[in-house]
Amino acid sequence: MRLSRYFLPVLKETPADAQIVSHRLMLRAGMIKQSSAGIYSWLPLGFKVLRKIENIVHEEQMRAGHIPMQMPTLQSADLWKESGRYDAYGEEMLRIKDRHDRDMLYTPTAEELITDIFRSNVSSYKDLPLTMYQIQWKFRDEIRPRFGVMRGREFYMKDGYNFDLTKEDALHAYNRHLVSYLRTYERMGLQAIPMRADGGPIGGDYTHEFLVLAETGESEVFYDSAVTDLTFGDREIDYDSVAQCQGVLEEFTSKYARTDETHDEALFNEIPEERRRVARGIEVGQIFYFGTKYSDALGAQVQTTEGEKVSVHMGSHGIGVSRLLGAIIEASHDDKGIIWPEGVTPFHAGIVNLKQGDAEADAACEAIEKALVAAGLEPLYDDRKERAGGKFATMDLIGLPWRITVGPRGLKNGVVELTSRRTGESEELAPEAAVAKLI
Ligand code: ATP
Ligand code: MG
Ligand code: MG
Ligand code: MG
Repeated sequence: MRLSRYFLPVLKETPADAQIVSHRLMLRAGMIKQSSAGIYSWLPLGFKVLRKIENIVHEEQMRAGHIPMQMPTLQSADLWKESGRYDAYGEEMLRIKDRHDRDMLYTPTAEELITDIFRSNVSSYKDLPLTMYQIQWKFRDEIRPRFGVMRGREFYMKDGYNFDLTKEDALHAYNRHLVSYLRTYERMGLQAIPMRADGGPIGGDYTHEFLVLAETGESEVFYDSAVTDLTFGDREIDYDSVAQCQGVLEEFTSKYARTDETHDEALFNEIPEERRRVARGIEVGQIFYFGTKYSDALGAQVQTTEGEKVSVHMGSHGIGVSRLLGAIIEASHDDKGIIWPEGVTPFHAGIVNLKQGDAEADAACEAIEKALVAAGLEPLYDDRKERAGGKFATMDLIGLPWRITVGPRGLKNGVVELTSRRTGESEELAPEAAVAKLI
């Protein structure tokens, strides 16, 4: 991509109304523009990162055997009246009337809708287990939308739903989600810690929130510092193996890690004092087993081998896809701008031409661009006739992991400069060698 042809409306001034660093940087880097409170347009750079994150979520869900599908953003209120949640959901639900005066709503979550699809089509245990998911826009009329995409009103969320014959099977689905989420967040360069959360009115131990530690997080969290030593890494996992998934769950949830809703001071005090941590976190996902709550309410039943009709056991599992952009930036930035982890970066490298219009410099930049594209990478070539300082500032702000700086003086000695955004370290290399380092 040539920057001269791209749309990157970088802001020079720090937006006054943005309270946290990720919001400021997303605005300054021209990634989003607010359209009304908590509702954003995703400008090209932001949209590109959103898609990268979405793709990782898709890949990991499909790897776990979960089936992608898509449900509408607008729903009829009927199913919600049937489940009893139409009144219970309260002010966060955006209610709309269509021209025939029918009650509609913008979906805040989709348990009812998917349970209706299930009950209309599945009637035998033979069709179980089944887990379907979507990545779709949601709307919640948050009382205080803030922090940019972190707490939007319209936001992009992965929501998955499992249908199982027994509680044991549903708990395996729960564990599978936990494992797939660990992989998902790590691929984005994030540490998201599963923490025991509040099961709400249904109660029980079967819900975990995934939290990214950050001072700006809205949740207060309490944990044993030993949980931060755990990494999933690139271990192979058989998602059909009950024992393996259970083993991972135990490994990642046996140490104390809770949100303030479930915090237990006595248990916390059993941790050696030097390992006790009280901090703040950003909720980037939550998994939930809720048994037959919705299948009972909506009559989602299957016939067992004995011919008996039973309600299916269900769970739902969410990832805050659009919130993740904010969480990643909160976790990875410096005073010059964003530092994208390789897994989600909008472009792999920036090419800065120090003397646009100089035949040799232009040719060298174009050759590097071509070589990177041929290797399947996406470079962003700053081919504008701007001062070097401004070009560097833009590259630092938008946070691409690598910058290749090309100028007539270096080229006389046969070298370009390769700079790591994360460490700030530079080295001079032949152009081919710089390209080779990136592929
Ligand atoms: P919160 O506690 O932050 O209000 P929640 O518990 O209400 O979130 P869930 O119903 O668990 O949210 O939805 C799944 C995920 O969707 C959350 O873990 C979060 O990452 C994301 N999410 C929820 N609300 C918003 C929002 N208003 N803006 C952006 N992302 C959100
Ligand atoms: Mg909420
Ligand atoms: Mg929550
Ligand atoms: Mg939640």
